Order: sequence, then C-alpha cells, then structure tokens
Amino acid sequence: MQYIVLDMEWNQAWPGSYSAKRLPIKFRGEIIQIGAVRVTDRQIVGDEFQVLIKPKVFRKLNKKVSSLTGIKDAQLAEHGVPFPEAIDRFREWCGEDCVFLTWGFDDIGILKENMELHGLESSWVDRWYNAQMIFNSQTDGATAQKALKTAMQMAGVEPTRPAHDALGDAYHTAILCTRLDLPRGMEEYGRSMEEHENGFHGAQIPGCLDRKVFHGLAGRDDALELLGGEENLCPKCQSLMNHGKWVSSQNRRYTAMASCPNHGQFLLRVRLVAEEDGTTKAIRMIYEGTSDAANTFRTTKATVRKRTRRPHSSTKQ
Ligand SMILES: [Zn+2]
Repeated sequence: MQYIVLDMEWNQAWPGSYSAKRLPIKFRGEIIQIGAVRVTDRQIVGDEFQVLIKPKVFRKLNKKVSSLTGIKDAQLAEHGVPFPEAIDRFREWCGEDCVFLTWGFDDIGILKENMELHGLESSWVDRWYNAQMIFNSQTDGATAQKALKTAMQMAGVEPTRPAHDALGDAYHTAILCTRLDLPRGMEEYGRSMEEHENGFHGAQIPGCLDRKVFHGLAGRDDALELLGGEENLCPKCQSLMNHGKWVSSQNRRYTAMASCPNHGQFLLRVRLVAEEDGTTKAIRMIYEGTSDAANTFRTTKATVRKRTRRPHSSTKQ
C-alpha cells in the first residue's frame, strides 16, 4: 500500500455569474491544479506529480484565486490539459492500492464533484483521510482544524516550497505525514471523527451532505434568520427550503428540519461561536433526512413535545 498526499487549487465562479447558476450539480470549484506526493508504506517521501488544468466551466480566473495561487489565465491556456486527461495521468501515476491523504476536508469532495461533472468514475479516490485529524490526535489533541502553516511551525518543519501551490502544499503535508504514525492514525480515525462530529468540526460524517461556515454575523438572531432564510438552500438542487422551528440545545447549538420541494427533508445543525472581533461565526451542517442524525432529532423532538404537553393537559383536568 502507498499513501498519496494530494492537494489541489480550484477556481470559483464570480459571485452571481451565469455559469455558477446553471450547473446541474453541486459544484464548489473547478480544479485548475493538482499536486501530489507519494509517501511509501515505510513513510518515506517519494516521487511527485503535478498537472495544470484548462478550465471549462469558469473560464476566467477569479482574481482572488489568481492572486492567492499565482496562477494566471495565460498559463492555464498554454500549459493546462483538459480535466479528463489530467485525471487519467494522475490515476496512472498513483497506481494501484492507494490511500489518499489531504490537509482538510474539502479536496476529495471537490475532486469528486469535478469528476461527476465530467462523467468520470470516482470511487477509486474514496479511501481517504484528512491528515489534519491524524496530526491533531497525535500532537496537541486539538479539535479545531489547523492551517498547514501552523502545523509546520508546531512540528518544526521549515517551508522549502511555495504555499498555495498544489505541489508545494502537498509536499509540506507529505513531510508532516512522514512524522506521524499513519497506520495508527487511520485505525483511530473513526473515533477522532466522532469527537469532531460532537464538536461540529467534521464533514464526511455518515449522512452529512454539507458543511459551511458563515462569518461576521451580528449574533444569534442574525445567524438563524440567514440560515433559515436565504442561505437555507437544498444541498442537491439549491432551491430555497422551508424549515421547521429551531430547537436549541447546549453550547449555542440549533437544529431544525428543512424541506426541499424536490428532495424532501434534511436536517440542519448550526453551532454559533463568538469571535474575537465581537461578531458571531455559524458552522452549519446539512444531513440527509434519512440519516441517523435526522432520525434522532425527530425522536427527541417527539419526546420533548410529549413532555411539554403533559403539564398542560393536567391543568385542564
Ligand atoms: Zn432539492
């Protein structure tokens, strides 16, 4: 078995642009660069892979993406290859029996969305782990996600490659991975993910379809109004959803059922966090209506309803 440490850069739509709205599937970004570094089963850094991709959906680079990654439109036009060809090359380079490691939760999901858009089979990337979780559980036990730069500082790894470059980030992640006990990390992963679930940090939890963080909110009312209002969009078709009453629980958590006219019910879970600048951050997760999380919520709500009814009916008697 071999580990493939993967990092990608992706381009996003210009806000409100036409191309962003007409896509048939959920599409968070169009991949423009794939970088990967092989780590052998003896945890030694091996060979490297890099490819630039000619965009097809968002043909012009978003200014923010361009300035962050240093990638220019002309470069993609000249050196980029079509996405299916890039994936063919990547898969061939990976070889058989791979486990993927990424720094963060987003990369594989976005990779799969891009594959889906191009009609490519994507189950070969399903065996993956977020190296952040393994790093956290084997270092400071933190439950929050850590920037790659922070982890490198903690581990005393000097940057030798450019940041926000797919291969550069993959290389630095690979160096960190060689210092971890990867087999143990993978074995314990389920448990550390559960801890994160409880802390609302993780995506890739059974039944969880989406995780999004909203910054700069005025407070609870503002957050619940936004997340029950214009941001309450179906994760499958982006239609505006209806939602039931928010049920609050400890540690500023709010849960409600939402329903899409086309796709039925979903569970919304929100956790609010006060930020240093006095604003509120909301972390929202959307679960399948048939998930364990949604079923538990329905059952709990029914119990609460029964309990609150009882004293009312007893006063009548
Ligand atoms: Zn829908």
